[in-house]
Amino acid sequence: MFYNSVKWYLTRPRTRADAELRKKSCTFVAVKIVRTTILPFRGFTAINLLGVLFVHPGVYLSNEMMNHERIHSAQQREMLFVFFYIAYLLEWLVRLPMRGNAYRNISFEREAYANQRNLHYLERRPIYAWRHYMKRRPQHYQHSKTINR
Ligand SMILES: [Zn+2]
Repeated sequence: MFYNSVKWYLTRPRTRADAELRKKSCTFVAVKIVRTTILPFRGFTAINLLGVLFVHPGVYLSNEMMNHERIHSAQQREMLFVFFYIAYLLEWLVRLPMRGNAYRNISFEREAYANQRNLHYLERRPIYAWRHYMKRRPQHYQHSKTINR
């Protein structure tokens, strides 16, 4: 399963039908929604664990929010899940003593926040796109923010 996911990203679609199928598979990640009071922790509205979205009862899931979570699912899938959580935690720890909100400055979150309003983002998202958000405010991060707001 993991091998197929990696292969999916690394090869180009050969037919139009294949391209359409890939588009769908990229867009419809993180579909399982679990509503519970236990997760996520205080201060957060939703948490995406292994592609399952945990959200408090009564929270409205906007298209923008679902897109944000789908971007996380795409990140998780391309990093074979385990490496995503290791990198996420490490980056958070590194950014804790830095200026600004450590959580918001994690490159995975930067990519998700910068592109959540673009509902077609996942259709054209390049592999490991989050790496461009490691540096402080890269060009297209700013660009995307100006367009959206
Ligand atoms: Zn996020």
